[in-house]
Amino acid sequence: MQMMRYKIRHGKINHVFITHLHGDHYLGLMGLLYTMHLQGRTSELHVFGQQELMDIIEIQLRFSRSQLRYPLIFHPIKNYSGDIIHEDDDLVVRTLVMNHRIPCTGFHFQEKPGLRRINTDKLKQYSIPVHQLDSIKRGADFTDGMGRVVPNKELTFDPAPPRSYAYFSDTLFEEDLASDVEGTDLIYHEATFLHDDIERALATYHSTALQAAMLAKKAKAGRLIIGHFSARYPNLEPLLHEARSIFPETDLATEGSRFSIEHGTKQVVKAV
Ligand SMILES: [Zn+2]
Ligand SMILES: [Zn+2]
Repeated sequence: MQMMRYKIRHGKINHVFITHLHGDHYLGLMGLLYTMHLQGRTSELHVFGQQELMDIIEIQLRFSRSQLRYPLIFHPIKNYSGDIIHEDDDLVVRTLVMNHRIPCTGFHFQEKPGLRRINTDKLKQYSIPVHQLDSIKRGADFTDGMGRVVPNKELTFDPAPPRSYAYFSDTLFEEDLASDVEGTDLIYHEATFLHDDIERALATYHSTALQAAMLAKKAKAGRLIIGHFSARYPNLEPLLHEARSIFPETDLATEGSRFSIEHGTKQVVKAV
């Protein structure tokens, strides 16, 4: 329902990553799976999560005597950091093992370097045929009809720098993971409590806003989003203020916010 409200099309989603089996992190999944089924999805859906998640999905399908119209491909997660669980032409996804009350895995999404970008002025100047564009984007030189070689660097610009995003789900402060995500453009980190409530954070295997900011700072991240706030804080400003005291480029993950991942420390476009 939230996806409909925010006009996010189900059809555009092909991969779902579930961190752990506390209800606030996966109870919406079955609803999404059934909605995709009812809307006539036929393309594959890849779900990543703890092995037990597949048991939960299977039992729900079994007892409702349903068979999904689309192939659901489940990828069980192993519990060590740095495992590559998904790779395609555009990106690589690695695990980040959290320290929570039950097995919990975060994810590190890293874009691969893109193709070189064609300088369209040169396209006309050298009358480059369309069928050669692909190889030029991959770095090839161009030889014109007279046999003259035009070097690739004259025809193209450098590719856009690859972007990265790290998702730290429910976890105690795990400072050592900062080196695994060094230089990441955007980090989401849970910040369930204010640092005044550190005892409660330790007891429940959660982090404070201050700790989330410390991790982002240590990782030399571009930006930080904090979320998963305890209901004990009706006003979230103190959490934001606390994180920004350590890491100024912090935003709150409030319902409906959108963030675009930009390379480096550039702004994150946000619209509610
Ligand atoms: Zn949890
Ligand atoms: Zn949670």
